[in-house]
Amino acid sequence: PVVAATDVDAALREAFGFSSFRPGQREAVVAAREGRDVLVVMPTGSGKSLCYQLPALMRTDLTLVVSPLVSLMQDQVESLSAVAPGRVAQVNGMQDAAANRRAVDGAISGRVRVLYVAPERFSSPGFLERLRQARIGLFVVDEAHCVSQWGHDFRPDYFRLADAARWLGAEAIVASTATATPEVARDIVSRLGLREPVHVATGFDRPNLAYSVVPCAGKEAVAGRIAAVLGEPGALPAIVYAGTRAEADRLADRLGYELGVEVVAYHAGLPRDVRADVQRRFMDGSAPVVVATNAFGMGVDKADVRTVCHESVPSSIEAYYQEAGRAGRDGQPARALLFSTSRDKGLHVFFIERSEIDEDQLKFVARTIVGAAEGSPPRFNLHMNDLAQAEGDEEAVRAIVGYMARAGVIQPAPSGPDRVAGRVVGVWDRN
Ligand code: ADP
Ligand code: MG
Repeated sequence: PVVAATDVDAALREAFGFSSFRPGQREAVVAAREGRDVLVVMPTGSGKSLCYQLPALMRTDLTLVVSPLVSLMQDQVESLSAVAPGRVAQVNGMQDAAANRRAVDGAISGRVRVLYVAPERFSSPGFLERLRQARIGLFVVDEAHCVSQWGHDFRPDYFRLADAARWLGAEAIVASTATATPEVARDIVSRLGLREPVHVATGFDRPNLAYSVVPCAGKEAVAGRIAAVLGEPGALPAIVYAGTRAEADRLADRLGYELGVEVVAYHAGLPRDVRADVQRRFMDGSAPVVVATNAFGMGVDKADVRTVCHESVPSSIEAYYQEAGRAGRDGQPARALLFSTSRDKGLHVFFIERSEIDEDQLKFVARTIVGAAEGSPPRFNLHMNDLAQAEGDEEAVRAIVGYMARAGVIQPAPSGPDRVAGRVVGVWDRN
């Protein structure tokens, strides 16, 4: 093994220099080291990576880690390489074919012990064939909610992972996510085929993080309130999430003017190098406020963020949890504020209406679902035939349900083939 220590506490100190485990980590490490399937559900920033990195370094075989974003993967490879030089490698589209080949060769020879792999690679028979020559212990699926269509971040590539893991002869699958809903957890267990997994879940209440919702009369009031909050002592660094790119730009200008500090905007409409620069300036503290769309976040690990503001209601509870959870990762007091206006409802409807789904069908099905869920509790359980009346076939109905789920309006639950069930969690305009 890469780590000499044989008990997990000593190994933790030796490899990472940490004096103690955080809640849940020890259970996950012990289970993965023994080669059991594990499902790790912990809040963002709580240390899920260590749950598979430490057992990987204590075992004598190869650990594969599937991670959905290349930028995240590069960060992890870099930081783990500092702990275990030469024993970590990656396979993804950001490096050339020769480098990818060397990474797999290293894994086959046993030199590389942790191999990070982009999910789409597992659809390549040639890659699988070669990788099968390695002795594979743990098959780690990071951000495992991506396997669930009911999550906010569904990736079709994740569907293949269960088969690939078994075909490669992996001893155990370790799945990790910050998405805590029971529906998504069930989906992960069934889609990844986890066998009697050790389920490690830790508190989603972050004691140092104060959440509040601030109703406002309109967008003008929201901007004023955000400026006031961020002007308080100790409020910075801060992330402000905006609902649209235009709003992010506008708010960044205004806050920069009112606060008298460097405020930068971040969204997918900016060129890649500008985004990288914005991220760097926020990380190194030269810009203490970033106003961003939801494009900003995954892979941002800035421990001392004191405030996260949402200028509008985000698309789903999970998205909100992830984004708000970027505050206070250092354990010091931090605040998450959600500013809501009645107009936000219209924004979600606007996005839904711009989707490629036929609008009449969408509206009919949506109205039926939301109508059925009215009153309390806000759950629905409908027969396909009721929904298919909208001249839609079952496929269309399922597409619409999936769309509503991604838009954060409903949260479907597993149900029979001819039913859809779940609950209404988001905002929706019935008119
Ligand atoms: P997650 O994937 O759950 O969002 P990470 O695995 O990226 O979180 O870990 C977040 C931070 O916590 C990292 O900087 C990591 O080094 C740190 N960390 C993890 N476990 C411990 C620990 N036991 N003691 C101290 N710091 C830790
Ligand atoms: Mg992580």
